[in-house]
Amino acid sequence: MSVITPELLTRFDVAGPRYTSYPTADRFVEAFAEGDYIQALDQRHEATRLKAQPLSLYVHIPFCESLCYYCACNKIITKHKDRAATYLRYLTREVELQVARLGPGHSISQLHLGGGTPTFLSDDELRELMAMLRRHFHFVPGGEYSVEVDPRTVDENRLAVLAELGFNRLSFGVQDFDPAAQKAIHRVQPAEKVFAMVHAARALGFESVNVDLIYGLPLQTPESFARTLAQVNELRPDRIALYAYAHLPERFKPQRRIHAAELPLAGAKVSMLAQSLDAFSEAGYVYIGMDHFALPQDALAVAKRQGRLHRNFQGYSTQPDCDLIALGVSAIGRMGSTYSQNAKTIEEYCDALDQGHLPIVRGLTLSRDDMIRRAVIMALMCQGQLQFESINLAWLIDFKTYFAAELQVLRALQEQWLVRLSEVGIEVTATGWFFVVPWAWCLTVTFSRGAAAHSSPRSSDPVRSGHAKFTGIDGPPHGPGRRAALRGHVRRCLCRSGAGSGRAPDAGPDGISAGQGARLQPARRLGRRQCAGAGVADDPVRGHSTPLDTSSPGRHGAGGFVAAASQATRLARPVGAQAVGLGSALS
Ligand code: SF4
Repeated sequence: MSVITPELLTRFDVAGPRYTSYPTADRFVEAFAEGDYIQALDQRHEATRLKAQPLSLYVHIPFCESLCYYCACNKIITKHKDRAATYLRYLTREVELQVARLGPGHSISQLHLGGGTPTFLSDDELRELMAMLRRHFHFVPGGEYSVEVDPRTVDENRLAVLAELGFNRLSFGVQDFDPAAQKAIHRVQPAEKVFAMVHAARALGFESVNVDLIYGLPLQTPESFARTLAQVNELRPDRIALYAYAHLPERFKPQRRIHAAELPLAGAKVSMLAQSLDAFSEAGYVYIGMDHFALPQDALAVAKRQGRLHRNFQGYSTQPDCDLIALGVSAIGRMGSTYSQNAKTIEEYCDALDQGHLPIVRGLTLSRDDMIRRAVIMALMCQGQLQFESINLAWLIDFKTYFAAELQVLRALQEQWLVRLSEVGIEVTATGWFFVVPWAWCLTVTFSRGAAAHSSPRSSDPVRSGHAKFTGIDGPPHGPGRRAALRGHVRRCLCRSGAGSGRAPDAGPDGISAGQGARLQPARRLGRRQCAGAGVADDPVRGHSTPLDTSSPGRHGAGGFVAAASQATRLARPVGAQAVGLGSALS
């Protein structure tokens, strides 16, 4: 049993985007354009070896009929159903442009329809979309074919159409069953309707049903959320995604309709998080990582047990890493060593296609250093451990030399029981699974001399690559001065986090005591002042740049347990040393 306290949550509140995978979308640059992507498509086309590997597809449907006030997604609110037909024509054009380069008949082993609301499309439009995709791609039997479903927009017949079209996974946006909370977020969907749809999905043979929940919404209380959790456990979905709401009305207009006074305070949010972890643990769910839980027999849980878990911009997956073709407004794709993102407005998206261009507006070409870092971070995020030797052999480096500076920082996090270092590798602790940002960020930033020497100027330069925006780091843009500034910033964040100040005598082997948080308080206060001086504001809303990676497809929520719970701690009055127990099933 490990222990997380509100103090611990606050301590590791390091500013940064929601950490979904490496590289984070904030590193994309506008210098990456259509030509760079086409080059990557051509390379795949020319490599026979790659042609045999299946692709993954993401299709973004941006339309929604009504606005949820907590929303931070890329969407278009409209009642005009005819907009979908026009959009489908543009999607078709985009696929044709891609396939013209890629060549016909590529296999697909993974499809995700996200939004927005994919079920904004009528049954006939969904049929048309899938028929179009099947004309260009071969869908492999046994692949993962999933769609996000707004329960308000479907009935049993519509789910039957989704099954008939080959979808085998559904994700229902539930958020909360409480009627008052639903009204406050302008998303009223009776529990009976959700229960009926989940039961219908099971009867129709969908292999996996996911339910999205959000805590920290207006009018939620620990008591009301406990009722929601009891209902979720009764529903028993195969997977649960639990997101934290981050209130950023200056950044996301819909959130201005939420009354800040109705938001739960820090203590309440921490209680809701604690209740959720306990409830899922008692119901037998396995903690997959980040915000995700699954029943032990679900494919994700099985993949985790067998060390076959993967992670990409769509979240955890059982499918091996593969090239991802992204279609639609704001969609993010991966091709070879590149990542790319489409235009975020429908006007820009359609304009580009009208002119015969792919609507790519930014992206990134990974350097060798990026690829090594991605391999390391993904191994830790999916398997929770890595052996230095496996990276040495795969990348022909000496891990300890290459990551000498990073290992130094990780050693400080070891004192906080987030990771364990040994002579042969790194392991994420039970506590570390819930505090991904500190250790992932340490491995993300290229601040070691050895790594800088191996990486391209484009990716290793934090200014060009977008890291300056992410970190708010002062200092010269290049050279040793820059690296010193980065090292200083990491030190300040660790100081703020309390790392490096020694393990509390009462800390357990896998946990951190409540008392330790209190003892580290002065260092944290000092660190916070220093970080604010370095450009990270201490304002409770603006200073917390963690909560949303809006580029992550289809995600309504905020930056994971830690970011949101810690933000909550900062937003509200001081809370007591309330312990949050993580059951062993979640470890
Ligand atoms: S939360 Fe989802 S359904 Fe609601 S407005 Fe945003 S994208 Fe649409």
